[in-house]
Amino acid sequence: MLKKLKNIFFLKCPRCHEGDLFEGAAYNPKNIINMPQHCPKCRQPFFLEPGFYYGAMYVSYGLNVGIGGSIFFLIWWLVWGFDIDKLVTGAFIMTGVLLLIFPYSLRLSRSIWLHLFYKDELTFYSESDTINTGNNKE
Ligand SMILES: [Zn+2]
Repeated sequence: MLKKLKNIFFLKCPRCHEGDLFEGAAYNPKNIINMPQHCPKCRQPFFLEPGFYYGAMYVSYGLNVGIGGSIFFLIWWLVWGFDIDKLVTGAFIMTGVLLLIFPYSLRLSRSIWLHLFYKDELTFYSESDTINTGNNKE
């Protein structure tokens, strides 16, 4: 469990725990969601089906609401003691922090999504399976 959490937060392959889920620096706009098709170490496919990462948007939404809400609440409570005049300032600070961590939170939401659906036996496909896009006509 702890190892799984570590893999999720360090954006590692759910199978071998070594390969990186993403390529390039997170803060380069070209690289933010730049994922290889397979794990560079064990060849585990990172795209389990077409459009797999659309669902990660829901994870991302939950993450941002959770992180943003926590930051806002903590600052408003601990720094300003629930001063109603500081609501807007708190909202700006929260937005700023969310923008700063956006590349990481986006990658993290994909990592959580992949780890949610990863099953040791079921998700290791052969090379030919991963090339199949689901559009083949019989
Ligand atoms: Zn791997």
